[in-house]
Amino acid sequence: MSATKHNWTKQEILDIYNKPFMELLYEAATVHRINHDPNTVQVSTLLSIKTGGCSEDCGYCPQAARYHTDIEGNDLMSVQQVKAQALRAKSTGSSRVCMGAAWRNVKDGEEFDQVLEMVRTINKLDMEVCCTLGMVTENQAKRLAEAGLYAYNHNLDSSEEYYKEVISTRGYQDRLDTIDNVRKTNVTVCSGGIIGMGENIEDRAGMLVALSTLNPQPESTPINALVAVEGTPLEDQKPVSIWDMVRMVATTRIVMPETQVRLSAGRTQMSREGQAMCFFAGANSIFAGDKLLTTPNPDVNEDMEMFKMLGLNPQKPFTKKVQPQTVEAKDSEFEALGEKPKWTRPEHTIERNEVAKAKAKAIK
Ligand code: SF4
Repeated sequence: MSATKHNWTKQEILDIYNKPFMELLYEAATVHRINHDPNTVQVSTLLSIKTGGCSEDCGYCPQAARYHTDIEGNDLMSVQQVKAQALRAKSTGSSRVCMGAAWRNVKDGEEFDQVLEMVRTINKLDMEVCCTLGMVTENQAKRLAEAGLYAYNHNLDSSEEYYKEVISTRGYQDRLDTIDNVRKTNVTVCSGGIIGMGENIEDRAGMLVALSTLNPQPESTPINALVAVEGTPLEDQKPVSIWDMVRMVATTRIVMPETQVRLSAGRTQMSREGQAMCFFAGANSIFAGDKLLTTPNPDVNEDMEMFKMLGLNPQKPFTKKVQPQTVEAKDSEFEALGEKPKWTRPEHTIERNEVAKAKAKAIK
């Protein structure tokens, strides 16, 4: 294992990102081989356990209630539904299930109790369980940890500067505070972002500064390519080029050598050759299933064909860290505190978000 550096500057990261392509690829692949098995890639399944109707205004997201998109909303799934989907995912090679709920933040109550039960159920299937539920308090993070949660996802999305161009309903510091709350438990941190939202290269480097200077660095970092969905403020963004995607993956690998780098949204826009370059540059996880929350994703059979062609093996669960224990609800040492933390609402005006909102109003 290489020593991990925690004081990366934006200029150092830009210098890496802008290296001649072959040099960048070679350096990233070398760091990757020192820290990971280059022929092993984790297959994860992302389940949208509660879809749509979200109060936030994230400019890339079709689940925001204020925009008009053609996604179908769903109330919180039952534990049995989630269990059935997790078993299906396991049978097709997934070692991790990530459950996403379109919430601003977790609220103590019946729905959160139901999510805790889902965590217990999936952990007992010997799969890594990840949740992405919005902002969480320290007590909520502890309750998730006690139920057997392996990872909590909370993306920084972009640089702090560009974040303000995409979201007005919460602040960057709220994201960092949630990550900090998760860090007070033994749950691992998953945090990354999206490229192709109109940000510049400095913003990409800025996001990597924010992630790589966390100590410890996130155990997992998803790199998403924007999937521009009609009706969202970012509907007209051009797809990000594969060269940018490979550069971003390679740079992430170099500055976060031990992190699991996840090739996430946008894979349907990438050729197999492009994805192979990403794996060579250090990506070591993909999301399986024909949907990624609400946007299209390659079919699991296509992925398995690709794995065969490239000689890749799916990673076994708990390769990087031991399986957490599950404590049953009746034996829990934590109780719902019913906290109402004051997560911020900057509410500044983002022109394109306002335009998308007005269009949605006119349609409704
Ligand atoms: S990204 Fe999450 S928080 Fe933002 S609108 Fe979509 S579901 Fe809501």
